[in-house]
Amino acid sequence: MAAEQNDVLMRADHVKVYFKGRTKQSGTVKAVDDISFEIRKGETFGVVGESGCGKSTLGRTLIRLLKPTEGSVYLHGEDIGTLRGDALKQMRKKAQIIFQDPSACLNPRRTVRQILMEPFEIHGMTKQIDVDARIRELLQLVGMDEYHLSRYPHELSGGQKQRIGIARALALEPEIIICDEAVSALDVSVQAQVLNLLQELKQKLGLTYFFISHNLNVVYQVSDRVGVMYLGRMMELADYDQLYEKRYHPYTEALLSAIPQVGHNAGERIRLEGEVPSPSNPPSGCCFHTRCPKACSRCQQEVPAFREVEKGHFVACHLYEKEN
Ligand code: SF4
Repeated sequence: MAAEQNDVLMRADHVKVYFKGRTKQSGTVKAVDDISFEIRKGETFGVVGESGCGKSTLGRTLIRLLKPTEGSVYLHGEDIGTLRGDALKQMRKKAQIIFQDPSACLNPRRTVRQILMEPFEIHGMTKQIDVDARIRELLQLVGMDEYHLSRYPHELSGGQKQRIGIARALALEPEIIICDEAVSALDVSVQAQVLNLLQELKQKLGLTYFFISHNLNVVYQVSDRVGVMYLGRMMELADYDQLYEKRYHPYTEALLSAIPQVGHNAGERIRLEGEVPSPSNPPSGCCFHTRCPKACSRCQQEVPAFREVEKGHFVACHLYEKEN
């Protein structure tokens, strides 16, 4: 996976993000534990996993809102951890984020116009470009009207607030956007509208998305490739079509069996027993072994390598090690 290709926009190379626990007893939280993958230009790379599996931490690390404990993230082949000054500012323009809760990330004391002005102020661009024209253009892109410019966030619906969050993320013409549970806080009907808008913008502006969600149905609707995370590790990664045809990992199998239209050949729904273990005290060996219906004694002792079992389809499971 390490080979840099022309269509690779971003690459995570053995990224680990560990946090110190709040107490001595709680130990080190391994939020992201040795993950490597590439994001291709123009694709939607979906990441799915249960709450607390580290997907949001990974997303923030990709755009240097968090620093990896080990490993590196490359944008256009450049290690973003080494960037300083103007180079770092340029990187921040190229990589933006849309958060889950639009109410929490829009300043309630600022109007929509002031909110959309912020990115240009931060990057000292207010005198370089016609900011008012650009703000009107952004509003149009996200399907809002000019009269919204004087509104405050509390005067907008949840869907409208998320559209403003998207407009702000688009302001500096990014190449990649981290969509961190971007539709999870919205009603189902509004979710569909915002997902459609994101798809339209991707086509129109040639964007690349890293799309994070706990909802596999949503990830499946929008993604070109899908990564499945569990307890800070990537369990399986493949093209949407490949996963639709065949999933190898028992965790992915269980997740997908819950979606009838996807799990057509998966038989009955697989219900996983037990809770997700704490990332500060993950199980030995394969971190999924405490819930895996196919676990054997080896699974408790050895961490399975993340290996390519067919072209472009990667799996971390001892069951498939002989196939390579
Ligand atoms: Fe299950 Fe073992 Fe595969 Fe882990 S390595 S997913 S425990 S069979």
